[in-house]
Amino acid sequence: MLSTMQDVPLLVTRILQHGMTIHGKSQVTTWTGEPEPHRRSFAEVGARAAQLASALRDELGVQQDDRVATLMWNNAEHVEAYFAIPCMGAVLHTLNLRLPPEQLVFIVNHAADRVVVANGTLLPLLVPLLPHLPTVEHVVVSGVGDRSGLEALAEERGFRVHDYEELLAGRPQTYDWPELDERQAAAMCYTSGTTGDPKGVVYSHRSIYLHSMQVNMTESMGLTDRDTTLVVVPQFHVNAWGLPHATFMTGINMLMPDRFLQPAPLAEMIEGEKPTHAAAVPTIWQGLLAEVTARPRDLSSMKQVTIGGSACPPALMRAYDELGVRLCHAWGMTETSPLGTMAHPPAGLTAEEEWPYRVTQGRFPAGVEARLIGPGGERLPWDGTSAGELEVRGTWIAAAYYNGVDAEPLRPEDKFSADGWLKTGDVGVISPDGFLTLTDRAKDVIKSGGEWISSQELENALMAHPEVAEAAVVAVPDDKWGERPLATVVLKEGASAGYTDLRAFLAQSIAKWQLPERWALIEAVPKTSVGKFDKKVIRQQYAEGVLD
Ligand code: ADP
Repeated sequence: MLSTMQDVPLLVTRILQHGMTIHGKSQVTTWTGEPEPHRRSFAEVGARAAQLASALRDELGVQQDDRVATLMWNNAEHVEAYFAIPCMGAVLHTLNLRLPPEQLVFIVNHAADRVVVANGTLLPLLVPLLPHLPTVEHVVVSGVGDRSGLEALAEERGFRVHDYEELLAGRPQTYDWPELDERQAAAMCYTSGTTGDPKGVVYSHRSIYLHSMQVNMTESMGLTDRDTTLVVVPQFHVNAWGLPHATFMTGINMLMPDRFLQPAPLAEMIEGEKPTHAAAVPTIWQGLLAEVTARPRDLSSMKQVTIGGSACPPALMRAYDELGVRLCHAWGMTETSPLGTMAHPPAGLTAEEEWPYRVTQGRFPAGVEARLIGPGGERLPWDGTSAGELEVRGTWIAAAYYNGVDAEPLRPEDKFSADGWLKTGDVGVISPDGFLTLTDRAKDVIKSGGEWISSQELENALMAHPEVAEAAVVAVPDDKWGERPLATVVLKEGASAGYTDLRAFLAQSIAKWQLPERWALIEAVPKTSVGKFDKKVIRQQYAEGVLD
C-alpha cells in the first residue's frame, strides 16, 4: 500500500524560494579588502539569481542539463550562480582554482562545460587554459580584473565574453523556475585526483536538499538565523560543505572571504564581523593560530568551528579551546556531499570527559549508514578496536562517477562494492556507540613487518610538541620491514628541537617499534589544492633524495 502523502520534489529551487522570502533579510557579506565589506540580502541574491538565469537562457542559450562552470572565490555572485544554474535546470560545475592547469583542462573538457562564470581576478589563470577548452562558448566575468587578454583571445577562438553585471542589468527579478525531477543533476564536483584522473560526482536536487537539512540539524552544524557563518571552505570544495544551501534553508547569515584567505585578513574579518561559526580545513586554523599568537585578536565570537577534510590534531583543538573557540571535528568526502560524521560528544559529560569523543571523527547521522570491512572482505564489529575500511551508503552519497551525459556512469570496483556501498578508502575503528576514529587513508597506512602503523597517530602526537608547527608522516620503503615511517616536521619560528628530543617526546605516547628512525626538518608541508597534506609529494621527494 502506498501512502496518502503529497509527493513534492525536493528541489534546490524550494530552498532558494524559502531563503529569499522567509529569510529575505539575512545577508551575504563579502570581504572586499576595503574598509567596508559588501552586503547583499538573501532577497537581493534571489532576485539576482533570477536575472542570471534569464541571461543564461535568453542571451547565452543555456538549456536543461548544460554544464555551467564557475571559477570563483566565495562571494555573493558565486552564491547567485549556486542557485540560478541548478534551479533553471542546468548543472553547476564548480572549478577548483588551485588545481594544476592540466587537471582543470581535463575537468572542463570531461564535463563539456559550455559556459564559465569567472571572477576577474582569476582571468590570469583562465585565459591560458581557454585555447584548450573547445566546448566553452561563453565566458562571463564578474568583478575587477584585466580583461584585455581574454577579449583578444575571444576573437581568435570564437567564444563570447560578457560582463556579469551588464548581463544581469534590466532583466526581470523573477523567473519561472521549472518544476524539475528531484533526481536530476543540480551540481557537480570533481575529486581532486590525488590518484589517477579526477572523477566527477554529480549531486541531485534531492541529495542537496536532504544534505542541507542534515547540515542544519543540531547533531551537525545546527545553526539558526541568529548565526553568521564564515565560509572559508571554498565553494569549489564539495559545495562549501553544503553551507550556501543550508544557510538559505534557515536564514543563517554568510560571511564570504572572497580572495582574502590569508591568516591576517581572516583574523580581521572575524574580529570585525563577529561570525558565530566557521568552516575550514585544519591548515587554515593552524595558520590563523600562528597569526593570533603573534598578533593577538579576539576570535571568541566563533562559538563553534566545523573542522574537517583532514584529521584535526588534538593539540590544535586544545589551543583553540583556550581562545574560547570550540573546534568540532567532521569527516566527509566529495562523494558524500560531504557530511559524513560530526564529533559532538554524548550528553552529560564534563569538559575533560568529552575529550575522547571530540578527537574522534564523530558519529554518523541517521541518513548515513556505515560498515567496516576487514582485509578478507568480512564485516567487522563496532568494538572500538577492529580496524577496517569504512564503507557508507545514504541518500546524499555517490553511487557512481560521471562519464558523459549519455554514457553509463562509472562504478570502479575499488570505489563501489557489489551491493552499492561507497568504499571510502579510509581505515579506522568504530566504537559500540557509533563514534568513528580514522587511523589513516588506506594508501597512507605504514605497513611495517606485517603490522600497521597509523601515520595520523604519529602526526597528532608530534603536533602536540610545543615546538612543532606541523608534521606529516609517510611510509617509505625499508629493506628489513617492508615500510617504515618517515617523519617530516616543520618547527615553529625560533624553535630548536632536534630529532632526539622529538623522538623522546613521541616515546611518551607511542609504542617503541612504531617510532620513526627517519626524520626530516622541512620549511612547510606540501599541500593539495584543498589544503591537505600532500603525502604523494613527500614520498616522491624522499625517493628523489631531497629529504635525506
Ligand atoms: P581528496 O580525496 O582529493 O582529498 P576529498 O575532499 O573528497 O578529496 O577528501 C576526502 C578524504 O579526506 C576522506 O576520504 C578522508 O581521507 C579525508 N578526510 C576528510 N575529513 C577527515 C577527517 N576529519 N579526518 C581524517 N581524514 C579526513
